[in-house]
Order: sequence, then structure tokens, then C-alpha cells
Amino acid sequence: MLTPQSEAELAEIIAGASGPLCIQGGGTRGLAIDGEGLSTRGLTGVELYEPGALTLVVRAGTPVAEVEALLAAENQRLAFEPMDHRGLLGTGGEPTIGGVIAAGVSGPRRIQAGSARDHLLGVRFADGAGQIVKNGGRVMKNVTGYDLVKLMCGAHGTLGVLSEVSLKVLPVAEASATVAIEGADLGAAVAAMSAALGSPYDVTGAAYDPEKQTAFIRVEGFADSAAYRCRRLVSELAGFGSPRIEDESAALWRGIRDAAAFQGRAGDIWRISVKPSDAVALAPRLQAEALQFDWGGGLIWALLPAGTDLRPRINVPGHAALVRAGAGTRARLGVFQPQPGPLAALSAGLRRQFDPKGILNPGLMG
Ligand SMILES: Cc1cc2nc3c(=O)[nH]c(=O)nc-3n(C[C@H](O)[C@H](O)[C@H](O)COP(=O)(O)OP(=O)(O)OC[C@H]3O[C@@H](n4cnc5c(N)ncnc54)[C@H](O)[C@@H]3O)c2cc1C
Repeated sequence: MLTPQSEAELAEIIAGASGPLCIQGGGTRGLAIDGEGLSTRGLTGVELYEPGALTLVVRAGTPVAEVEALLAAENQRLAFEPMDHRGLLGTGGEPTIGGVIAAGVSGPRRIQAGSARDHLLGVRFADGAGQIVKNGGRVMKNVTGYDLVKLMCGAHGTLGVLSEVSLKVLPVAEASATVAIEGADLGAAVAAMSAALGSPYDVTGAAYDPEKQTAFIRVEGFADSAAYRCRRLVSELAGFGSPRIEDESAALWRGIRDAAAFQGRAGDIWRISVKPSDAVALAPRLQAEALQFDWGGGLIWALLPAGTDLRPRINVPGHAALVRAGAGTRARLGVFQPQPGPLAALSAGLRRQFDPKGILNPGLMG
């Protein structure tokens, strides 16, 4: 495993590479490809943290746990609530902040706080020719004008290896409280979640577990305010099932964030992004063994028998990614949703610009 200890060393390794590189942070997201391992694990440390300015600049290989501990000491957090894939994928290692940004990992607070991409202020990375690029700092031939921050987040390392990310951070809410609506089928749950999200109570999470027939609505803020809003939601959502205030909020939402209901269960796991209002009609078409809805995160998690191609069953606009499957299924179906022709051509053009040798996680995306 190549493990550069500095950005300059990272650039040197990429400049000298002639074959495929399999880029890893902590290796927890399970997206290995054939190629020589290149880990960002040596690129750690905080460059700048200004709590008053809500800004953090950190090297890409820094463990997420370290970032979260640093922020917690100042009563701040990564508001986009990145999931930890280790439970779902059965991987080891330490999630890194660069990996979170490269994979564009966002959680249930997305509806209120935004996605990882929305919290990313800047990047530094080495492109496929081994040149250091700083967001806005260097003009690249033929790609002038692209918002590189938006491009790098979710590109899974195919356009460059992140060496540093600048993030917007936010204060931790004083309290978090959850209303659980029991005895709700999917239709009632969707109606309840829509009503809650459309209410003035500033909901920061809405999820549905069909196996427990329970919808969960989260509010955060000052303790008195959160308690008041929960009471109002309990009374206003009474028509959709049996709402009650749930005691444990943090562990529950960590479980929703990490799709904990599917951990340790056999089968392939798909992550589907569709318009929330399309989900009710879509759910039965998926013929899944089990489903979980992170409604506020804009995600449906589906468990299917190994090797099943879910994508032809999706008849509404959206994407499906194969988050967990055997190597054969991943090779046959591809991890990411194939893009329509014109978009695929644009993506390929971008990859040629950023990675002319075609060595950065080749074949992973398109
Ligand atoms: C509150 C909310 C409302 C929404 N409303 C709508 C809506 O009205 N209409 C609608 O269509 N969608 C809606 N969505 C879904 C959302 O727009 C999708 O998540 C979005 O289209 C995907 O963009 P993303 O950047 O979030 O991608 P990600 O969440 O990072 O990825 C989503 C999927 O897109 C694919 N993908 C991402 N990047 C690439 C890439 N570079 N190359 C190939 N594939 C890639 C992958 O398959 C991935 O699983 C909503 C989501 C939320 C949270």
C-alpha cells in the first residue's frame, strides 16, 4: 500500500504511476478496484479550526472520529451527519474525512441542513497527472469555470485524490427529541412525514421502518422548544397511527443514518435516491426482501436476493447504487447507476481532463 506522508509525496507518487491506483481513505466504504493501493492515511492533521468562523480545514486522511471529537469540544458538529459504512459493509478501518467527502456521504439531516457537498467550502487535491490543484487557486486548461468543490464531492476519487478539505461546521443543538408513530403502514407513514416536514416545527429527520411499522420524526434545538414541538407533533399526527415521544434519540438516529436494520443480514443492499413523493408507488415495484426509508435524507434502502438487478424496476426518475454485493454482482451490474449518453460523455470528458492517464480508480464510475 502506497501511503504518502505529505501532499508533495502524494503528487510525486501519482506523477510517477503508470498503472491503476486504488484510492483509499480508511477503506471503510468497500469500493475497492483492481490496482495498486494508495492510501491517504498518512495525510492527517488539522490545518485550521476557527470555531467562531464555523470553519475547519483538515487533511483528508484525518479520521472522522478525530474531527468529530475536536468539534464536540467546541460544541460543534458536522451537520450533514455522515454515515459510518462499517456496520453495513462489514469493513474495518477508520472512516476518514476525505473518504466522506469523496463519496459525498450525507445523512438524515439532509432535508434541513443539506448534504456533504453543501458543507464543503474548499478542496486541495492531486489530479491524475500529479499536479496539486486548489479550489479556485489554479486554472486548469479546458475546465476553467467548473466549481471543483461541487465536482470533487461524490466523484469517489475518479478526478483526483483529495489531500485537504475545508468545511463549514455548525453548533450542536442543545436537545434532540423524536416522535415515533407506531402502527403506520407506508401510506400513513408518508402522509405523517409529509405533514411533519410541512409543519412549522423545523423537523431535522423523518424516517420509516416498515418492519416495525413505525415512522420517526426528529426535532432539535433548545430543550424547551424541542419538547414543545414534539408535543405538538404528537397531537397533530394522531390521525396517522399512535404517536408517542421516544426516549432515546441519538442512538435511534445513528441507526437510521447507518441503515442498522440491514446490518448482518444476507443479500445485496441498494441505495435508491428518488423524489420522496414517488416512494409509495415505487416501494412494491422493488420486490425487495426488506426496505428502510430515510425520508429526510432522500434515501430508500433495499435488501434484495444476491445478484438481483434492481434498476429495471425503478420506473420514476432517480438513481440506485449497489452499496453491498459480491464482487461478481458488482462487476456485472456496476456500483453506480449508468448515466444517460450525453451525461456519460460529459463525465468521460471530465475524467480525461483530470486524469489523462486513466489511473484514478478506473472503472469505478462509468
Ligand atoms: C429533501 C430531498 C428532496 C428531493 N427531491 C427530489 C426531486 O424533487 N426530484 C428528484 O429527482 N430527486 C429528488 N431528491 C433526490 C436527490 O435529488 C438525489 O439524491 C440527487 O439526484 C442525487 O444527487 P446527489 O448529489 O445527492 O448524489 P448522491 O446522493 O451522492 O448520489 C445519488 C446517486 O447518484 C449516483 N451518482 C452520484 N454521483 C454520480 C456520478 N458522479 N456518476 C454516476 N453516478 C453518480 C449514484 O448512483 C448515487 O447513488 C431529493 C432528495 C432529498 C434529500
